[in-house]
Amino acid sequence: MNEKQNTTARCLGCGLLVRGGTSGCQAMMDELLARDFSDVTYFRYHRMFVDIYCLQHPDRYCISAKSLAAHLTGLCWFIDNDGSRAVGSESLRRWLNGTPPMEKPEIPSFRGERTIADVRDAPDSEAYGQAVELWARSTWKAYSILHSLARQWIQQAFAGQGRSRPKMERGAGQIRTAE
Ligand SMILES: [Zn+2]
Repeated sequence: MNEKQNTTARCLGCGLLVRGGTSGCQAMMDELLARDFSDVTYFRYHRMFVDIYCLQHPDRYCISAKSLAAHLTGLCWFIDNDGSRAVGSESLRRWLNGTPPMEKPEIPSFRGERTIADVRDAPDSEAYGQAVELWARSTWKAYSILHSLARQWIQQAFAGQGRSRPKMERGAGQIRTAE
């Protein structure tokens, strides 16, 4: 680490102490996002990575109730249903493309002990995937006051479809976790 004291600050979203603060954290996000699109072995975790990062940076990514719902139900889906980390749930996307009635709840100010810095330096895509899983659980835990709301939204999404229940849907290329 070569951090200069005068340029190091806390990211206002995730609390990471990083050069450039919030924008330094965002630069890491941009860097990893670009890698997802150039290396399919990293893209396997793409959608989960995006949902986690957005939930940790709600001032930028979860401004509307709908955007919060997208990322919160997205992460819930991965945790509860072992869905595809690469692309998430098509049923949830369809639900969000409509006009689901919802109010934006208060977002927790502490967003987990792990940050993007914990996944960034993984030596390969396998290690990266495992780090993203841990990051997902840490962030999900920090959002515990919204777990029931997230599950309620998912139920609504599937009730509106009138077909497959959440447990029946399996995404392609899903990654199994150790848990
Ligand atoms: Zn951050």
